[in-house]
Amino acid sequence: MLIFSPTTIRSVNPQPLPYLSFFHSISLPLPLTSLPTPSKSPHFPSFHINCIDAAQPFDYESHLKNRYIQSTSLKIAIIGFGNFGQFLSKTFLRHHTLLAHSRTNYADLANHLGVSFYADPHDLFEQHPDVVLLSTSILSTETLLQKLPFQRLRRNTLFVDVLSVKEFPRNLFLKYLPPDFDILCTHPMFGPESGKTSWAGLPFVYDKVRIGDEESRIKRCDKFLDIFEKEGCRMVEMSCMEHDKYAAGSQFVTHTMGRVLEKFGLESSPINTKGYETLLNLVENTKGDSFDLYYGLFMYNQNALEQLERLDMAFESIKKDLFGRLHQVYRKQLFGDNNGEVEKKRSLAQQLLGNGSLTEPPLDNVRQDGS
Ligand code: NAP
Repeated sequence: MLIFSPTTIRSVNPQPLPYLSFFHSISLPLPLTSLPTPSKSPHFPSFHINCIDAAQPFDYESHLKNRYIQSTSLKIAIIGFGNFGQFLSKTFLRHHTLLAHSRTNYADLANHLGVSFYADPHDLFEQHPDVVLLSTSILSTETLLQKLPFQRLRRNTLFVDVLSVKEFPRNLFLKYLPPDFDILCTHPMFGPESGKTSWAGLPFVYDKVRIGDEESRIKRCDKFLDIFEKEGCRMVEMSCMEHDKYAAGSQFVTHTMGRVLEKFGLESSPINTKGYETLLNLVENTKGDSFDLYYGLFMYNQNALEQLERLDMAFESIKKDLFGRLHQVYRKQLFGDNNGEVEKKRSLAQQLLGNGSLTEPPLDNVRQDGS
């Protein structure tokens, strides 16, 4: 980079040349040899050249690159810098500026990652982030939202949540956020275990609950979604209500089975089958999540209780099938093979059924012991 000092020019030539009439500095992507030699040119006074950067051909490119980064990067404030907040931040940091606040003081850890940590949410909001991302436990969300100093933010800040249930935060956002704020409800359907090596192909659900019409607001929301799109996530736009219906039948059941198997105490053996490996992986994937998270899935998804009851009924039904057979074997051993008698009763039942005067009794109900 070359710096022309305007004071030197003026002192020699009182009529400043039009193309040198600036006061800061200019970058010329020209080789030094293409400049006229100041002392020999009648039009050029002698002036000072300060060579402060040897890598001049790259200046323009780096300038463009910085401009591009600025136009695509967001200032994102993460609230709730626990397990999932930290996990997300490692990817966000590649292209965006990150700030964070949490109940616990994570200043050292954040500093190490390259995130600016603010123990006080007032200080965080005074940095005027483009996006505020809520990554707190489902259970603490409402209490937290009631305490946040929204008045310190810019008027149309974008609020995003990543909670594993969706209708609940959507309703809280609509209730507590100022009406000028944009709202994007999202659920990255993966975590520190399942998304450890890559996010490619993993589902990302989102619902643009309230995004203003202005181009800048639409672009800001798209820029945020781009983070996940560029990582290769499978982007799924659906309403919060639909999400909760599907998630109760898949995610809640997955977490429940993972927890049941963890309590059961699965252990690896030298003869693990592929199916068993899948179960071990399931336990591995779910055991890192807090009980608060699991309880939140149950409490704040209105479909979860029904799914838990269905699971319970399915388990009972399988047990009945097994014990029913065992019962028959036990009876045979106790009373001998009484097949002839059983057959007679079965055909009698079928005759009656033919008249339509009976609904078919289950075979178990046909008494086999003749008593
Ligand atoms: P979590 O147990 O659901 O939440 C932990 C976070 O909540 C921490 O940042 C914690 O702050 C904060 N928190 C808890 N109680 C609080 C309270 N009373 N007041 C203020 N903050 C409180 O575990 P997580 O895995 O980090 O999940 C965070 C969010 O991401 C949850 O809503 C979860 O549903 C969602 N999510 C998680 C995953 C996953 O795989 N883990 C995947 C998708 C979405 P401190 O650490 O400062 O105590």
